[in-house]
Order: sequence, then C-alpha cells, then structure tokens
Amino acid sequence: MKFLDEYRESATATQLARLIRETAHRPWTLMEVCGGQTHTIVKSGLMDLLPSEITLVHGPGCPVCVTPVELIDKSIAIAALPGTIFCSFGDMLRVPGSSKSLLDVKASGADVRIVYSPLDAVKLARAYPSREIVFFAVGFETTAPANAMAVWQAEREGIRNFSVLVAHVLVPPAMEAILASPNCRIHAFLAAGHVCTVMGWEEYEPISQRWHVPIVVTGFEPLDLLEGVQMAVAQLEQGRAEVENQYRRAVRREGNRPAQARIAEVFEVAPRKWRGIGEIPLSGLRLRERYRAFDAEERFPVGVGVVEESSECIAGLVLQGLKKPFECPAFGTRCTPEFPLGAPMVSSEGACAAYYLYGRRPCEGSESELPSAAPSR
Ligand code: SF4
Repeated sequence: MKFLDEYRESATATQLARLIRETAHRPWTLMEVCGGQTHTIVKSGLMDLLPSEITLVHGPGCPVCVTPVELIDKSIAIAALPGTIFCSFGDMLRVPGSSKSLLDVKASGADVRIVYSPLDAVKLARAYPSREIVFFAVGFETTAPANAMAVWQAEREGIRNFSVLVAHVLVPPAMEAILASPNCRIHAFLAAGHVCTVMGWEEYEPISQRWHVPIVVTGFEPLDLLEGVQMAVAQLEQGRAEVENQYRRAVRREGNRPAQARIAEVFEVAPRKWRGIGEIPLSGLRLRERYRAFDAEERFPVGVGVVEESSECIAGLVLQGLKKPFECPAFGTRCTPEFPLGAPMVSSEGACAAYYLYGRRPCEGSESELPSAAPSR
C-alpha cells in the first residue's frame, strides 16, 4: 500500500499541522473545491488538527450535487421510454428529482444500468442495436475527456443508437461566481487536483490575479490537503496571491493537452444551471453542432418544464461555502442518506453525506459559525 500509506502518515500530518499553526496569525477561510477533498477532510478529522484561525468551507465541486433537478427529471423521463437502456454512474441513481429518482424508475421496470465508463455504454449500443442507449454525462473537466471520447468513438463507428444526456460543468466559472458574491468569505482556494490533471492551472492564473486570491492545486489524501492548506496560509500571511501546485506528482501547468483537444473537438462552452445556485454564464459544456445527433435532449424531447427545488434544502448555500451541512435544519432528521431531500446527502462527493457518515458536528465554536468579516483577500 505504498502510495496510500505515504500520504496518510500521522507523524507528518502532525508536523504539517504544527507548521500551519506557526504560520497562521490571522483568521482565514479556505475553500476546498472538490467534494472528494471534502470527504477526506471530514473523514480524516483534519479540521480538528487546524488552529482556530483557519476555517475550511466546502465548495461546489460535487457534480452530482450541482446537476439541476430539471435534468434529473429529464433523465427519469428518458429512462422510462420503452426500448431505452439508460446508463449512469452509480451515485446519480439515488439523487432526488422533483418527485422520484432514477432508482425509483428502475424499480418500476425501466432498464437503468450502472456503468463504470461511458465506453461501457458504447459497448451496450453495439450489443443492442435495436435499443436506444443513453449515457448520463455528468461531471467536471475530469470526466469530460472520457465522455468526449465515447461520442467521438460512436461517431467514427457510425453507431446511431447511442446518445448522451450532457450535464457537464466547469470549475473556473464557479469559482468566479463564488468570489463575485457579496457574501463571499473565501480568502483562498484549494483547487481540485484531478480537474487540473486534465486542464492544468493556466486558467486559474487570471482568477488569482483578478481577485487577489491564492489558489493551490491540491490532491486528495490527508497530507496533500494539509500541505495545500499550509501553502495557501503562507501566501495569505505574506500578502501573496498566486497559483501554486501541491499535487506535483500528477499535475503539470499545461495539463493534458490531448485530453483538452478531445474535449474541445466534441464539446463547446455554454451557459449551465447549477442546482441550488442558478445559472452561471459559460460554466458548462454542450455537444458541438457536428455531434448534436448524439444529444439525448434533442433526440428525446421529453418536456419537464420548470421544476421547483425542495424549499427545505439549503444545498446552494452549502455548495457556496456559506453554510455547513449541520446548519441545515433538515440535516440528519428529515434528510438522511436513506431519505435524502437534496443531492449533497446522497452523492459520494456530497458535503452533507460526509458530515452524516463521519459524524461531524460543530466543535468548540470555531466551526459553528463562519467569520462574518473577511480580512483583505
Ligand atoms: S442536509 Fe439535506 S436538505 Fe440539508 S442541505 Fe444537505 S442535502 Fe439539502
């Protein structure tokens, strides 16, 4: 277990925590962008290691959580069409739409299948030429290359019974939307390492400069996150605002150019609605004109209209780092993983699920309220 133990080693974690304590002299609020990072932070108890000056809030980087209810409803309507095989990653199945989930429609007899790659869905399309195979293409820039590759492959092979329901979102516009909010309390970001493995970090440099905010590309293991925090706090204390790379073992500044080229060939940037947050300009991907025949929304025009989100669920505030999950009145009572009101309680990257699963509650004041005033960013 060489590559796991090395990044979970407690003596090094203690040293990093001491270094953070020695570095931090003022209150700083840091946001980790990715829900996978949130789970590591909460599961490993990293917040308990940090000094009271440092507050970690959790960002919008859970693609399942930010997929709008309308699109969940659309996936359910398409999955229920006769002759369709609807394919998805597993954690979309239990996400509540306006009245039911994909799991409910599967229980009613629809052919909904969990796949581990969009190329598995292309295989199904080859195997069942008389059926319509639809893949739910959810995710950030991390999953976009594989989804683009699936569409590209289907086009090359002339496969006509394959399509994708696209719900792709992009990280940089979401970070800018958070920074532009009058309620923003974020002083630094821990950027999502896997997204940057694909995209690099060049596109974060204008954000860092424009908003004078440190951005540290950070990995997913406990020591990655502690080192990312330490790097961000050092910048803040020194008055610097730069993009730095903690995740050196996986990320290069330019990212993965071939993967970026495949994304750009198949997808184009488009406005996208985020669940609980609303529409963010140029924050998503849609299929380019050449590949529009693979667009499930065009192939299956199932009308679902405008859908209201649960009035009880404050996921939008959680995803923008304005509230912690335990500040939601429904947390752990009317909203649990078995009976979720919102996607963050059921997604494997959801902040509410992390707090519920690992039993986190406010501890000794520092976590129970976010700082009301932001020192200079
Ligand atoms: S605890 Fe449930 S209802 Fe509350 S914000 Fe999280 S997902 Fe929404």
